[in-house]
Amino acid sequence: MGKRPVRILMLAPQGAGKGTQAARLAAHYGIEHISSGDLLRTEVEKGSDIGQAVRAYLEHGDLVPDDLILQMMVRRLLRAAQTGFVLDGWPRTIHQALAADDLVTDMPEVGLQAVLNLVVPTEELHRRLLARAEKEGRTDDTGAVIQHRLDIYQRETKPLVDYYRSQGILLTIDGDQPPEVVTKDIVAALDAFVRAG
Ligand code: ADP
Repeated sequence: MGKRPVRILMLAPQGAGKGTQAARLAAHYGIEHISSGDLLRTEVEKGSDIGQAVRAYLEHGDLVPDDLILQMMVRRLLRAAQTGFVLDGWPRTIHQALAADDLVTDMPEVGLQAVLNLVVPTEELHRRLLARAEKEGRTDDTGAVIQHRLDIYQRETKPLVDYYRSQGILLTIDGDQPPEVVTKDIVAALDAFVRAG
């Protein structure tokens, strides 16, 4: 393993700063930021087949079917394998995590080195998401849909924390701090972890 963390997953609820931190890490380490949500929104904007198939799920804040997202992610991961990547938004269910682990059997170059778990209190998540709704106007950032997405996170995605902890690659970071401080904490934790590995 190199001295640089190049295959990372950000695991955090909506509003925790996952996308912001993923973008900062990508810049810091010179790796690619792969956001499943951004990829899906681009497909919707293009009106592609996949975009038409997923539009309603996105609007309601429901998870899109695993097979659709898997195809899209495999293509994207293969393109980024050389450079390295920080994954943002996939895997987000145990089923997807198992699929991601399966991929590694054939493609060891996409195996995760570290998973970052950003922890932020629930009230703060709500506050940030409503603030973001006003700024960005995303159709899934309204009160009821936000609550729905957070519920899905608790039910479907949070179990991944234990899943990756048991693989020995989970790093927990306090996300309830200014963004620059969170980035500093993440970089320190990642660098120490990769050096130790
Ligand atoms: P957030 O994490 O704030 O919900 P994202 O941009 O990550 O925002 O995701 C937006 C939407 O895209 C989700 O509500 C879901 O409909 C879809 N989506 C993104 N990633 C996945 C995934 N891994 N599996 C299924 N659906 C996904």
